[in-house]
Amino acid sequence: MLNKTGIPTDEELRSVLPSEERIKRGPVAIFECFQEIPCNPCESSCPKGAVKIGEDINKIPKVDHEICNGCTNCVGACPGLAIFVVEQKGDKGKVTIPYEFLPMPKEGDMVTGLDRKGKPITKCRVLKVRKNEKLDRTAVITLEVDKGKELLVRFMKVEE
Ligand code: SF4
Ligand code: SF4
Repeated sequence: MLNKTGIPTDEELRSVLPSEERIKRGPVAIFECFQEIPCNPCESSCPKGAVKIGEDINKIPKVDHEICNGCTNCVGACPGLAIFVVEQKGDKGKVTIPYEFLPMPKEGDMVTGLDRKGKPITKCRVLKVRKNEKLDRTAVITLEVDKGKELLVRFMKVEE
């Protein structure tokens, strides 16, 4: 399915999700990277050493969810836009996503959260927009969503 549509299967997603208990403990990265390609900025961008690819750069990265502290450094470093950081607090969730489109939202804006198929699923508040030279043209954006939606929202639409 991934090869034809770019959308991972439920089984592929289950294989990369942190445990419910880990998600409850604090922010954590989810790597939705399923294809063997020569790529490793996720590994070098992680200050905690939580990401391992190993000597063969084609291997799929493995993130240790116990070591990852959800700092979001790797989100903007991934050229495949395949890394997300999720968090749950009370009845709200947060998801940090990479974003390379225009218009660029501002903090406080309401945007439409889209799922992996590009389907609108919820309204989200923009909590944080990070953009700098180091990140090149990839902005790193944190959205507030209803709890549970942080596992579904993977893109957003900004109304002009
Ligand atoms: S969120 Fe931070 S600690 Fe976690 S894998 Fe990414 S860079 Fe490493
Ligand atoms: S940087 Fe992104 S695309 Fe490249 S291996 Fe890491 S997760 Fe996959």
